[in-house]
Amino acid sequence: MSEPALGDIPAPLFRAAMHQVADLIADYLEHVGEYPVLPKIAPGDVRAQLPEKPPEQGEPLDALLGDYRRLIEPNVTHWNHPGFLAYFAITGSGPGILGEALAAGLNVNAMLWKTGPAPTELEETVTDWLRQMMGLPPQFRGHINDTASISSLLAIAAARHRVRDGDVRTRGMAGRVDLPPLTVYASEHAHSSIDKAVITLGLGHENLRKVPVDAAFRMNVAALDTAIAADRRTGRLPIAVVATAGTTSTTSVDPLVDVAKIARREKLWLHVDAAYAGAAAICPEYRQLMTGLEEADSIVVNPHKWLFTPVDCSVLLLREPDALKAAFALTPEYLKTSEGAGGATNLMDYGPQLGRRFRALKLWFVIRAFGVDGLRERIRAHCALAREFAQWVEKEPGFELCAPLPFSTVCFRAVPPGTPEEQDAFNERLLGSVNGEGPVFLSHTRLRDRFVLRLAIGNVRTAREHVAKAWELITRAARTLRAT
Ligand code: PLP
Repeated sequence: MSEPALGDIPAPLFRAAMHQVADLIADYLEHVGEYPVLPKIAPGDVRAQLPEKPPEQGEPLDALLGDYRRLIEPNVTHWNHPGFLAYFAITGSGPGILGEALAAGLNVNAMLWKTGPAPTELEETVTDWLRQMMGLPPQFRGHINDTASISSLLAIAAARHRVRDGDVRTRGMAGRVDLPPLTVYASEHAHSSIDKAVITLGLGHENLRKVPVDAAFRMNVAALDTAIAADRRTGRLPIAVVATAGTTSTTSVDPLVDVAKIARREKLWLHVDAAYAGAAAICPEYRQLMTGLEEADSIVVNPHKWLFTPVDCSVLLLREPDALKAAFALTPEYLKTSEGAGGATNLMDYGPQLGRRFRALKLWFVIRAFGVDGLRERIRAHCALAREFAQWVEKEPGFELCAPLPFSTVCFRAVPPGTPEEQDAFNERLLGSVNGEGPVFLSHTRLRDRFVLRLAIGNVRTAREHVAKAWELITRAARTLRAT
């Protein structure tokens, strides 16, 4: 009896399955709109259909692909669906998927230049393209991370490293009577990832100051000034301000020029969270709304949000990339290379992680396939659709807009007769009813303590018909709810 073959699956089998996978993906993208955006299943339904134990013997690839079609594809929330209008949409665009697939084939780990020469240099090039597209000065250098949460964490780590010239890196913070509490400032509308960054970095959640916002949900700069002064008076050490360009609830943009002035004067690191709206900075007319962005020490923008790049891909742009390197670089003997010693970029130097995925490839494909102009036109079309939707809301009796509309996200709600609490309950039921229909998925937030619906356009497949469908379902559900 011959030995069973070891090694990978046979090449012809792989090739045949890969062709099937190409068809599966292409079919999915062509027909994704026919699925309900949210699968009609309950927690535990998928798990109940999965075997408890792993197979002892290998299974045919056809069985795997069959189960994928039967069990996985129909039971995901379809982020690629044109009716996905919740949170901030993301897109697995065709070019991005091709880049992702090729990166999977290469399986390169670009921790060092030597372990990934082309991935390292493509990352440097493609993030510089993004910098140029956003109209930022040449000293900014980009670094790709998985998510904005990690990009912001790294930026605040770089700010922490500036304290007494890297003293925290060497001595840590625990039990130190000589080190005052380090404080960070962000608006009360900043994303929760800033809270998590502060917690993770050991600064203490209570040392994140949530600065109040103005009527348009932008950071109140006078309140920022007051908070910093109060902290200094009580012996705390302010280290960073996080401004947001495109807040999660309303997409408001903090007054970056004024925030930057305070940050400079107070010698604080200025990080701008432009995870969503940074993409719009590639259009000059939307860049204007973010004047002051160029004053930042660091900026995060997520191509995996509104730049049609499959998740995950987050670009951290740094005015002084060496500040990040100073916080993290450390080379053990087994990672030393002559190229590194000669000055080649080793991506492992810019954060705590060693291994890394080749994310630059998909971003390169996206930018090349659509062209900067094509990307601009798509972002403009999304903003125009959002404005049209907002007009429908404004004209409809019994509905109101709840926030200004700088980009492609509309905050609105129904205002039936009743107490504020009854109105909240009505809107919650309205959202549940619309999302239960299938063709669209919207999300919600709270503004001034009221329940508000959010319609966010950002998927490359979303067209006028999908936004119109959402409005038809919303108005119909509101009429039905009122009648009952
Ligand atoms: N910042 C903002 C403004 C966001 O809206 C979000 C997510 O929606 C994030 C950060 C977190 O993004 P990620 O999932 O890439 O960590």
